[in-house]
Amino acid sequence: MFEEIAAGIIGQGVLYALQVIIGLIIADTLLGIIKAYSSKSFDVALLPDYLRTSILPYVGALVILGACALYVQPELFGGIFAASAVAVIVKFVTDIVNKIKAMTGVKFETECSICGESMPYSLESFEGEPVCDRCFAGGVAEEEADDNS
Ligand SMILES: [Zn+2]
Repeated sequence: MFEEIAAGIIGQGVLYALQVIIGLIIADTLLGIIKAYSSKSFDVALLPDYLRTSILPYVGALVILGACALYVQPELFGGIFAASAVAVIVKFVTDIVNKIKAMTGVKFETECSICGESMPYSLESFEGEPVCDRCFAGGVAEEEADDNS
């Protein structure tokens, strides 16, 4: 009785995790297609390769682990499946976030410490006060600084 309940919970968890992962993979693939399409580098011929090398290994390994967790040895494969599923979910969520960032051009903005104009964060901005290119070059800095004091 207890074993049946435990197997049922694992069964639900495995199927639910697989659904989440497949959903993430579809979202990631669609974003990849849109991204490639908008940068005019989309090539339908590359899609089968992408599916075979980037998606099949994840789905295949998880389906096999999931099947082992369901039918072979839940105590052993349930844990391996859970750890693998979490790793794959993290990987694809990271991929999706990075694609969205790249596509929408999301940037962290900061303000120039001299003229107050917004500017994108650059590596240099993390060292000391952020200064925009214009103020860095000098020239107009002084008259604008008065307005922002
Ligand atoms: Zn400035």
